[in-house]
Amino acid sequence: MKLKRKVKILMIIILFILTIVISAIVWQKSLTTYKKNNQEEKKEYDEEPVYKEHSSEFNIKKSNYIEKYYDRYIAYKKIHSDYDDDTIITYVNIGLDREFYTGMEEVDMNDGILLLCNKYHLLKSNYVPDLVNLGSKYGGGQLQREAADYFVKMVDAAKKDGISLWNVSGYRSYYTQKSLYNNYVNRDGVAKADTYSARAGSSEHQTGLATDINTASSAAHFENTKEYEWLINNSYKYGFILRYLKDKTFITGYKYEPWHYRYVGEKVAKEINELNITYEEYYATYILKG
Ligand SMILES: [Zn+2]
Repeated sequence: MKLKRKVKILMIIILFILTIVISAIVWQKSLTTYKKNNQEEKKEYDEEPVYKEHSSEFNIKKSNYIEKYYDRYIAYKKIHSDYDDDTIITYVNIGLDREFYTGMEEVDMNDGILLLCNKYHLLKSNYVPDLVNLGSKYGGGQLQREAADYFVKMVDAAKKDGISLWNVSGYRSYYTQKSLYNNYVNRDGVAKADTYSARAGSSEHQTGLATDINTASSAAHFENTKEYEWLINNSYKYGFILRYLKDKTFITGYKYEPWHYRYVGEKVAKEINELNITYEEYYATYILKG
């Protein structure tokens, strides 16, 4: 009886130890499997890029696709199914999927003379470029040095062809622009004033790179003059482009201004002259980086 009891106790102990060992083995195995699964999941997650490259979804020839605008391209494409994908991308890059004066950014000063200042890109109120006086022979007023040098060259060249050009309005400060715009708003209301006058910070005249030549009035019909004809045929040779083209109001935000010229340098002015596009389109295609 005593021996039988001892054997019974021994068997219980063995059974107990066996249970613990088996449990330990099973637990260890499941832990390894769990770890392995977990690692595989993590690996899968790591390999997935944060931003997927969607450019292949578009049929584009130009290389101005910007990944962060993907959702805007898709939304704009839905509204404008008649536009090809190059146009969709260029127009969204410009900002045309948004109303003028919305989604505004600061002008990128790193662009130098190629900066873009418009109804989506604003200058700071305290921004004043390095200016030089044009002198009364050239109509007075001020422009940035490089623009002024080329303006003088252009006016002198025109003179040799019997064409008389002068600056009517060059640099204008933020505050001059502000009071000009406010006066126009008081006279014509916001909607109409916005078609011909820039809100403070969005005027190219604040950059010191823009000049109104001989007039600044639609009523003068500068587009019918020999001076205008000379500018269209020659201004690009001196780095100036006609900025607010006819029938491009929906891109530039301004009605046709045959008198407003913008200095961008000889190389780019020549390219734009050949392409016959607005500066917004040129900038959105060749300068803007994502
Ligand atoms: Zn102007």
